[in-house]
Amino acid sequence: PAPAAPPAERYARSAASHAEAKRYMPGGVNSPVRAYRAVGREPVTIRSGAGAWVTDVDGNRYVDYVGSYGPLILGHAAPQVLAAVGEAMRNGTTFGMPTEAETRLARTVVDAVPGVDVVRFVNSGTEAAMSALRLARAATGGHRVIKCIGCYHGHTDAMLVSAGSAATSLGVPSSPGVPAAVAASTLLVPFNDLDAVERAMATHRGEIACMAVEPIAGNMGLVPPAPGYLQGLRALCDRFGVPLLFDEVMTGFRVDHGCAQGLYGVTPDLTCLGKVVGGGLPCAAYGGREELMRQVAPDGPVYQAGTLSGNPLAMAAGQAQLDALAADGFAAYRRLEAASARLEEGLRGLAADAGCPLTTTRVGSMLGVFFVEEDGSPVRDYADATAQSTRRYAAFFGAMLDAGVILAPAAFECWFVSTAHDDEAIEHTLAAAGPAFAAAAA
Ligand code: PLP
Repeated sequence: PAPAAPPAERYARSAASHAEAKRYMPGGVNSPVRAYRAVGREPVTIRSGAGAWVTDVDGNRYVDYVGSYGPLILGHAAPQVLAAVGEAMRNGTTFGMPTEAETRLARTVVDAVPGVDVVRFVNSGTEAAMSALRLARAATGGHRVIKCIGCYHGHTDAMLVSAGSAATSLGVPSSPGVPAAVAASTLLVPFNDLDAVERAMATHRGEIACMAVEPIAGNMGLVPPAPGYLQGLRALCDRFGVPLLFDEVMTGFRVDHGCAQGLYGVTPDLTCLGKVVGGGLPCAAYGGREELMRQVAPDGPVYQAGTLSGNPLAMAAGQAQLDALAADGFAAYRRLEAASARLEEGLRGLAADAGCPLTTTRVGSMLGVFFVEEDGSPVRDYADATAQSTRRYAAFFGAMLDAGVILAPAAFECWFVSTAHDDEAIEHTLAAAGPAFAAAAA
């Protein structure tokens, strides 16, 4: 049976807080998905987090799979990260002058990521994608970008076309304010479709700045690359002389120390990083082959800058997080795999028991849960991903929330497991999921 509706007083303080927030900020939030519109609920307002758990302002506790949409691979308030940030902070918060911490994190990234010879730190994934695209345009003289329908590369104009995730939930495939000429320069192809890429490259020879892709799509739910897809993209890019850009803002250091490119053995020309690399502080990066990156100012003419870029607190947080992931022969990734596999298997069993058709997808600690029409039907691209039932997801989401598990408030986001998701957290999640699948199936 579906859980009873919670007494309103259980969320009273969150409700009051959100009502006041709406007075001062659009939707009461600083990023649209947080307003819970896609699931028909009022957002809970968070007071604190520790490990796998967050606590709202009413004192309700939840196992958290939002993980700030990816950065928190060690969980909330990870002691290593807090200690590193605390130490950095005592020496000052920002200088606008070089620090050793930047070089150290840059060396860590370059050593880890096969496609990155040289790296530039920025403040958000949006900025990383925007800057990488500018560099690709400068290097090739092409103005067009090929992007996959349902992939998200931040909200820079050229990329805010069929951009998945929050944009999907809102039914806004692009946005007013994006100049038509800019949107028209973006060529759209379905994810996992090499023929479409070949046609676009053949039709627009000499006009293409780069082929941009999330190597593991994470913004239409989780859609892994089909076997051979990334290798096929590499081959097409080589044949047509088009730089290959992997947007690893979500996958970078999450699926493997070498990122998705290391995992699948396909090396792009340009890479965007974010989320995990910044340890939960505002930080992202773009990098790539030496001869491309040397075109960035001041080595080259392609301008890009930032007052807070390479911020000492962000460098410290990112370094602490990457060091922790690398410790003991990268043991963290093995732990993440074990916990995530257990979670996925548990969810599938419970959905089957509840008679709720489901498809799950997973790469390491990124998990996709799709409320499909027919149990186990494949999800290969945006059309498959959006064929799922958002009504069922909303029912599942609400039941999980009321049972103390917080998920992203939209069907098109992945679940992020952290090293802090121990047996207790997974068991709590699975105990909540049985009745939640029943509510979704109803
Ligand atoms: N690229 C990818 C693959 C992302 O998942 C995201 C954010 O979710 C971005 C870019 C944009 O990053 P940010 O939100 O830091 O601007």
